[in-house]
Amino acid sequence: MTTSPLSARVAAIPESPTLAVTAKAKALRAAGEPVIGFGAGEPDFPTPAHVVEAAQAAAADPANHRYTPAAGLPELREAIAAKAMVDAPGLEASAAMVTVSNGGKHALFSLFLALLDPGDEVIIPAPYWVSYPEMVTFAQGVPVAVGTDVASGFRASVDQLEAARTPRTKALVFVSPSNPTGAVYPPEEVAAIGRWAAEHGIWVITDEIYQQLVYGDAVFSSLPVMAPEAAERTVVINGVAKSYAMTGWRVGWSIAPSALAKGLAVLQSQSTSNVANVSQRAALAALTGPQDAVAEMREAFDRRRRTAVRMLQAIDGVQVAEPEGAFYVFPDVSGVLGRTIAGTLVESTLQLADVLLDVAKVAVVPGEAFGAPGSLRLSYALGDADLEEGLARLGDALAG
Ligand code: PLP
Repeated sequence: MTTSPLSARVAAIPESPTLAVTAKAKALRAAGEPVIGFGAGEPDFPTPAHVVEAAQAAAADPANHRYTPAAGLPELREAIAAKAMVDAPGLEASAAMVTVSNGGKHALFSLFLALLDPGDEVIIPAPYWVSYPEMVTFAQGVPVAVGTDVASGFRASVDQLEAARTPRTKALVFVSPSNPTGAVYPPEEVAAIGRWAAEHGIWVITDEIYQQLVYGDAVFSSLPVMAPEAAERTVVINGVAKSYAMTGWRVGWSIAPSALAKGLAVLQSQSTSNVANVSQRAALAALTGPQDAVAEMREAFDRRRRTAVRMLQAIDGVQVAEPEGAFYVFPDVSGVLGRTIAGTLVESTLQLADVLLDVAKVAVVPGEAFGAPGSLRLSYALGDADLEEGLARLGDALAG
């Protein structure tokens, strides 16, 4: 009998379902299948040319062939703090508060390890980004999901958060604009949530990675600015991946009160050390250089967002809350469950996602991955023609 070499902690982690769907779609495409992928959470644009040029120059400079401090290049930490204060006027940030990590994902992973003791509870509004509960569990914390739905615009209320609070509540994960729903909390709701957290001494992890991607009348509001009383227990997460089409460069960061930031730097000094210098230099160029590409991408995403909502709304049995940020739409398709599609009785969105890939050659992520069965997540960060073709195929398949 072979026993697994895996520790119980690692054996308990499921593979990221979003990455799994993306990988399956890519493999099918490589095998010649005309798959259209709505799975990936990444812009379809290339990284802006001036950023790539800065990286090329950085690679040629021997100064970048060495370690930097574990928390990041001092110039980059300065630039991150400065840009954060420009993007969220009123925010208090300094280089000492910044820890540069291998993407926002790693920043969050380090943060949960640094912040949580065994049994500490973390409130996470659902539908949630797949990695939060897994990271909390890995750090021996306890994720506590608070459900939201289409009817509430996928926004958690203070009353709901209060109902989930216990003496063990250590932190709240707050994400606006949200992955997977695209929900953006209005300023007064952000302020109320921040005040509630401050009143109860709860840490807020505010994931602002989609800060630049807000559409229509919606505005981005940074929680520690809306509720300054929460700032001393707030950590801002951000990165270059989504705003600058730099998912592959792996640069993200946290901005944390300095005592916590010091702990994060120690943790990284014993684990990953610094993020690759060339990537750090690229991130520096992205933050300090021209910002036109951000606006251009936002415009394209907004156009695709409107197409996606229009086409999904036209499908019988599908309910859509209009996403106001990020690049995802999260239709409730529970009205479709129970139908027979291409000879298969479809009873869950897990099953529906499989059937859609087989029958319509369309890759979507089932809501189960986000703690919200009955819905699907579609990323609209793909070309306009593919978007329309994919949604038409999806509509045809659901029509039976
Ligand atoms: N936070 C949210 C809400 C995300 O959707 C993602 C990526 O999908 C991340 C953080 C992490 O991004 P990265 O690690 O690429 O910087």
